[in-house]
Amino acid sequence: MPARESYDVVIVGAGPIGLATACHLREREPSVSMLVVDARSGPGEGSMGASNAMARDVFSSRDNHLLAKSSIAFYRRLMEEREELRAPVPLLDLYGYLWLLPERLHREFLDLVGRSGGSIDAVPVDLDGLRSCPGLVPSPARWYDGDGAPPPEPITAGLFGRNCGAIAPELLVRYYHGEALRQGVEFAFDTVVQRLSFEGREEILLHESSRRPFAFQERMAGRLRIARVGFGDGRSVRTDRVIVAAGAWAERILHPLGVATGCSPRPQSLYSVSGAAVDDLLAWEPPVHPIDPGVRGSRFPFVILPTGANLKPVFRERRIWVGLEDTIAQPIGTREDPGRDGRLDFDMARLADRAAYATDVLPAVAPYFPRFETTSVRLENAWAGYYHFSPDGLPVLVDTPFGVTFVGGDSGSGVMKADALGRLAAAQYEGRSDGQLFGGESYRLDRLSLSARDVKEERIIL
Ligand SMILES: Cc1cc2nc3c(=O)[nH]c(=O)nc-3n(C[C@H](O)[C@H](O)[C@H](O)COP(=O)(O)OP(=O)(O)OC[C@H]3O[C@@H](n4cnc5c(N)ncnc54)[C@H](O)[C@@H]3O)c2cc1C
Repeated sequence: MPARESYDVVIVGAGPIGLATACHLREREPSVSMLVVDARSGPGEGSMGASNAMARDVFSSRDNHLLAKSSIAFYRRLMEEREELRAPVPLLDLYGYLWLLPERLHREFLDLVGRSGGSIDAVPVDLDGLRSCPGLVPSPARWYDGDGAPPPEPITAGLFGRNCGAIAPELLVRYYHGEALRQGVEFAFDTVVQRLSFEGREEILLHESSRRPFAFQERMAGRLRIARVGFGDGRSVRTDRVIVAAGAWAERILHPLGVATGCSPRPQSLYSVSGAAVDDLLAWEPPVHPIDPGVRGSRFPFVILPTGANLKPVFRERRIWVGLEDTIAQPIGTREDPGRDGRLDFDMARLADRAAYATDVLPAVAPYFPRFETTSVRLENAWAGYYHFSPDGLPVLVDTPFGVTFVGGDSGSGVMKADALGRLAAAQYEGRSDGQLFGGESYRLDRLSLSARDVKEERIIL
C-alpha cells in the first residue's frame, strides 16, 4: 500500500507506457512526489505480458514512424550503455521484418519507403530470393476453405525492414521500473484504482450523493481539480494530478468522470507452435542483411503474409509465435468482469480464442506454408491480451482542465512507442505544448489530442 497520504502525481498503470512516463517525468521534475499504482502483482503484467513485443519503424503514418523510430533509437542507446541489456538476452534484437507482398501492396510499400526519403530503412527482396525459404509456396494453388472464398493472393515480392525486430519486454520493464525506483518513485502493486473523485473545497460545490461538481462550475475550470484516488479496498490517497496509463482498462476509470478517450479494447490472441517445419524455418538464412550482420548474421525474420498472418521466431524456445491481424467483427470491450473490489481478473490463457487457430489462423498461413497443416507443426500454447484501438491507429494523449491526463490508444504497437509516449506525457504534465523525442526532435502534443488531432490514419496495423 502507498506509504503516504498524498502525492503530487499518481500514475495508474505500470505497463511500459506508465513506467516510461514515470521515469521521464521524474527525471525532469526530481522534486515531484509520485506514486505508480497497478492492479497486478508486478510491472508489465497487463497487455504487455501477452504481447509479441516487436518493434518496427515501418508505418504509413509519419507520426507513428517518428514515435516508434525515436523509441527504438532510445532502446538501442540503452543497450550500448548497459552490459546487462546486451547479454545474455539483448533488449533489442533487430533481425528485421519481412513483408511478403501481393501485387496490390507491393507498389504502396515501395512508395512509402521512397516518400520517407531514407528515414524508413527497408530494402526490396525479389521473388527468387524468397524461394530459398523452406516450405514457402509464393503462389498457392488452392484455398483452404474451399467454395466461395477468394483465391489466396500470390506473393510477388518482399520488403525487408531493417530497423525492426524483437524487444525483450522483461528487460524493458526491468529497466524502467529500476530507474523509477532509483529516482524515488513509489509503487503500489496488487492495488486497483477504482475511482477518481473530486473533493469538496471551499470554492467548489459538489452534489451531495454523487460527489460530482455542479455543471455551472465548469466556468471555474481552472480551480476544479481531481482530489482523490480511491482503491478497491476502500482506501485512498490525495493528489491533484493523475496520469491514466491503464491500457485497455482506462475507460473504466475515465468514463465515470465523463472523459472520452476515443479508444476501445479488443482481445488479440497469439499461438505458439513447434515441430520439424518450425525448426526448418528457424534455420533459414534469408538473402537480406539485418542492421547488425556482423553480430548475429542473417536469420529468420518476423514474417508478414498477404493475409495479415505473422510469424515471430523465438529462437531460444525453437518456436514460432503466430498472430493474425484480425479487426473484422471482433467484439469490442474487455471480457473479464471486475469483482466487487474492482480486481481485474485478467487470465491470458483463458482470454485466448483457441478455436480460432483452426478456423482463422491456419487458413491464413497454410496456403503459403502448407506444412502448418501437417503433423510437422504442433500448437503448443495460446494466450491473449488487448489491443487498445484508437480510430486512426495512432496513440492518444488527452488532457483535462481538472488534472487528469490519459495516454494510450496503442493500437497494438505501444511497447515499441512507449519511450516516446512517456516523454510526451511528461511534457504534458509540465504544461508544455511540445515534447522532445529521443534524438532531439520536437513534437507538438496536440497532434495526438482529440480536440486538435492532426494525424493521418495508420494503414499498417499488425
Ligand atoms: C497479442 C498481442 C500482441 C502485441 N504485439 C505487440 C508488438 O509486437 N509490439 C508492440 O509494441 N505492442 C504489441 N502489443 C501491444 C502492447 O501490448 C501494448 O501496446 C502495450 O502493452 C500498451 O502499454 P500500456 O502501458 O498502455 O498498457 P498495459 O501493458 O496493458 O499496462 C496497463 C497496466 O494498467 C494496469 N491497470 C489497468 N487498470 C487499472 C486499475 N484500475 N488500477 C490499477 N491498475 C490498472 C494493468 O494491470 C496493466 O498493468 C500487443 C498486444 C497483444 C495483446
